[in-house]
Amino acid sequence: MTAPGLVPEAPTVGGTDVRLIIAECFGVETPTFQGEGPSCGHPALFIRLSRCNLTCARCDTKYTWDWSRFDPRQESTKRPVTDLVTWAASSPVELVVVTGGEPLIQQRGLVPLVRGLLAAGKRVECETNGTIAPDPALLVEGVRFNVSPKLAGFGVEEGKSIVPSALESFASSGRALFKFVASSLADLDRIAELSDAHGLTPVWVMPEGTTAEAVTATTRVLAGAVAARRWHLTTRLHVLAFADARGR
Ligand code: SF4
Repeated sequence: MTAPGLVPEAPTVGGTDVRLIIAECFGVETPTFQGEGPSCGHPALFIRLSRCNLTCARCDTKYTWDWSRFDPRQESTKRPVTDLVTWAASSPVELVVVTGGEPLIQQRGLVPLVRGLLAAGKRVECETNGTIAPDPALLVEGVRFNVSPKLAGFGVEEGKSIVPSALESFASSGRALFKFVASSLADLDRIAELSDAHGLTPVWVMPEGTTAEAVTATTRVLAGAVAARRWHLTTRLHVLAFADARGR
């Protein structure tokens, strides 16, 4: 088994079709919403890529990288980009969320995936931890990056999770917003420092929590201070609506 956090192999090429390492795809057979950020509440399809380059203690998708607890042979498959595009195109839903794990580990395969999705009439939100600068080929009309830098309070060393050059690439791209998970007022102070230091705007704050009770309680702790900073606040709709069930 691969050790937790180890960066995996790059996307493989089978014939002419790039393949991506996928944890799960959902939203076609059982419809759902984007649960976070500016598109919260919009119908959405999800393509979740396996593998991550961080090992956050409070990660809620450890089945994408924590091979001390999960079996990568059970939790991931290699799928051709053409299959993924065909799957998404079978639904009338316009928004496709590419998430992880950390999708930009497999950036070489993301370029044809995003091109295929856009050609099928979709728009794409790519969710990333902001540690890997985006390929310019991904910075195109119809694509937005939801960048979520992970703070120390999330159980990760900021020496690994905060990569100034990558964050500044997103900030200057014109195609990114910065969505921070926060659990305390101290987290908001840290977000302000990072935003000021690296030009991270617009800022979105999302209360941490994997239960409705936790999300509600943390929202009440943070909401006034987020409003006072003129930032954006998002909930976690999938937690409130579907109890954080996998595949919703
Ligand atoms: S960056 Fe995201 S997917 Fe990776 S370990 Fe942290 S929370 Fe989990």
